[in-house]
Amino acid sequence: MNIKINPQNDKHFADGKPTLSASELTVGYKERKKSVNILFERVKFSIYPGDFVCLLGPNGSGKSTLLRIISGIQKPIDGEILIDGKNIAAYDSRELAKKISIVLTEIFDINNASVYSIVSMGRYPHNNWLGILRREDFEIVDNMLKVTDLLQYKDKNFFELSDGIRQKVMIARALAQDTPLILLDEPTAYLDAPSRIEIMHMLRHLAKQFRKSIIVSSHDLDLALQAADKIMLITKEKNIEIDTPEDLVLNGHFETVFNTKEVKFHPQKGIFKKKAEKKITLKIVGSKTEIFWTERALERIGISIRPDKDALGLLQIVKQNNEILWQLNIGTETFTFYSIGELLDYLSRLNFS
Ligand code: ADP
Ligand code: MG
Repeated sequence: MNIKINPQNDKHFADGKPTLSASELTVGYKERKKSVNILFERVKFSIYPGDFVCLLGPNGSGKSTLLRIISGIQKPIDGEILIDGKNIAAYDSRELAKKISIVLTEIFDINNASVYSIVSMGRYPHNNWLGILRREDFEIVDNMLKVTDLLQYKDKNFFELSDGIRQKVMIARALAQDTPLILLDEPTAYLDAPSRIEIMHMLRHLAKQFRKSIIVSSHDLDLALQAADKIMLITKEKNIEIDTPEDLVLNGHFETVFNTKEVKFHPQKGIFKKKAEKKITLKIVGSKTEIFWTERALERIGISIRPDKDALGLLQIVKQNNEILWQLNIGTETFTFYSIGELLDYLSRLNFS
């Protein structure tokens, strides 16, 4: 595929200098009685070309605020932000629009515009004052429709499309803007699981393909852990940690930020789970897939699995003539169930106290 990028931008990608760097950055909101609600205090971070970064933090921790600060929409209390090595305050709005593009969660109040015309809007910062598109602008728009797999929709009206396709259109528009830095605030918030996964992986691929720095805020922790090159984590100490997802899990930062009284992160499985209520233990034997789904169901009703003989009972999952049986031994008794549903029914009626 022959994709054309504004050659002017190429020099920013070659030398490995950060696209974005912040130092001594303090962000917050002034409240009434002269007090200030500080969200980040003296933080420092850098983002490089090709980085696909997920911005994570609990609700209200300041993800949207940080993206507004990085984009220059909002001013920090203190500190410095450099975009391509130049202080953000030194850019005029048109020059800044050549450096940063933004995709927001709610962008769907566009009426009566074709997909093509919306993606074309991305070219405005690069045009003259008449806003007339040149041949190279059309080429870039076509290319971006192609890489986001939207060519078939180009003449469609935006409001006829599904949420997932609309979000892709907004991403194509940001790509057409051809900025070294792309910011997206929860772009997958209203999408179903397949669209969320597709969009996250598409963004990661685009970051690599075009050497863009892409920062996406998300509350989808599992997906961010899977898809991100780096996670930008807002900590309880009003700091920002940037690291590879797996390193943040292993060094405990991830758990510290997201664990609550009720919900705990399980580093061995990479998922969040509600704490078990009951404390019954079973040893379980069978093949991997059956054990996986049985264990999930048991955990939901508060039964945990132990690998050792200290368990209260033994659950054997047996395959017999294309049928799966669950044989439960507790004490001297054996019970047979023909589905996980039956097993759960029985176990949840037992009184284990
Ligand atoms: P997130 O996107 O992580 O949910 P936000 O950036 O929207 O978090 O908000 C972070 C905090 O900043 C909020 O808890 C709120 O207290 C404060 N905040 C956000 N917007 C404003 C505002 N316009 N004025 C005053 N405080 C605000
Ligand atoms: Mg937000």
